[in-house]
Amino acid sequence: MKVSVVKETAPGERRVALVPEAVGKLSAAGLDVLVESGAGDRAWFTDDSYAEVGASVVSRADALAADVLLVVGRPDDSTIAAMHPGQVVIGLLGPLADPSVVSALAAAGVTALSMDMIPRTLPRSQPMDALSSQANIAGYKAAVIAAAEFGRFFPLLITAAGTARPARVLVLGTGVAGLQAIGTARRLGAVVSAYDVRPETKTEAESVGATFIELTSVGPASGEGGYARALTEDERSAQQEELAGHIARHDVIITTAQVPGRRPPLLVTQDALKAMAAGSVIVDMGASPLGGNVAGSEPNETTVTENGVTIIGAGSLPSTMPAAASAMYARNVTALLLYLVKDGELALDPDDELQAGVIITRDGAVVHPALQQAQNGSAGGTAGVPSTAR
Ligand code: NAD
Repeated sequence: MKVSVVKETAPGERRVALVPEAVGKLSAAGLDVLVESGAGDRAWFTDDSYAEVGASVVSRADALAADVLLVVGRPDDSTIAAMHPGQVVIGLLGPLADPSVVSALAAAGVTALSMDMIPRTLPRSQPMDALSSQANIAGYKAAVIAAAEFGRFFPLLITAAGTARPARVLVLGTGVAGLQAIGTARRLGAVVSAYDVRPETKTEAESVGATFIELTSVGPASGEGGYARALTEDERSAQQEELAGHIARHDVIITTAQVPGRRPPLLVTQDALKAMAAGSVIVDMGASPLGGNVAGSEPNETTVTENGVTIIGAGSLPSTMPAAASAMYARNVTALLLYLVKDGELALDPDDELQAGVIITRDGAVVHPALQQAQNGSAGGTAGVPSTAR
């Protein structure tokens, strides 16, 4: 069975689905690994580095003709149109955020497995959890970007020229990315506070060095599967108002809040921004074309408010660390592939809970229940939601 790595098509995407280190494991399982020439260039993995470990470096046409195509993000429409019935494609396809990919894959007659649909709470899915691996990278990079943009020190610094107090950092949303942002800001010497609507995250945030803020105006809002639920209108405004006081007391804010299938909740309002001190920095990891966690933030844009607050709308942060992000993603996708391969061939079993979660189309039919609902127009509220593949 031929497994190919296809060069990414999204603008600005620098990751690659397999790194050379992963090739040996797939070859050992009886798979022929093909790599499109130049696929790893933007992550600093040369064609030669793949060839040296036994992969065949091929043209795009040959890569697109393989039995299984590995990608990081959603392939563009012309790539999908070049696929043929019976092929398998595996990637962070973001079908809940972008139902158009489901129709395109179905029309191409392919079997598609979306890494972001893996049931994350199954113990056996842990090595395949690309959302977590990429969120870890994003959280780290958000803290590093904040430190680089902040016009003062993160650590306490005592020098002959004076003493600098440590930066006060507030992380809003303490899921995978938030916890990594806390840990990174702490390692840089900042004093870190954190808040999440899921009270069970308190001990996790404390374990990586943050002081957890508990709001009195909003109760717990844990939803299904370890995620948060959307707040009601009243809860939202109470939360925004109470958070504003905390936000004003911090120098740096990193926001990571997400609710599955919804646009990111607004946590830092215009009023909260106005109350912040000049020189404060915000990194909004929820920034999306529909709005993010911070009023006025735009993905890949940095703006400075009239009162001197710098708002950085994060784009795809994992793509800014392409070597690390590709290496982790390659381990995730390899783990999934090896889970599915028996005797050198794919053996898909829809009765397996993990596979039922991850397979979105099978030979052109939309088989995932959540996506069947969306196709029938009854899912509501998911169209245009930013991808969770951050
Ligand atoms: P996410 O990206 O969906 O959300 C990030 C955080 O935003 C979450 O902690 C959420 O509670 C928070 N949030 C949402 N709305 C908010 C609001 N209005 N105000 C403040 N915070 C808000 O989440 P994620 O990081 O992908 O994962 C969420 C949880 O799932 C984590 O606790 C993670 O540990 C857990 N998880 C479990 C497993 C497993 O069981 N093995 C695997 C992966 C993730």
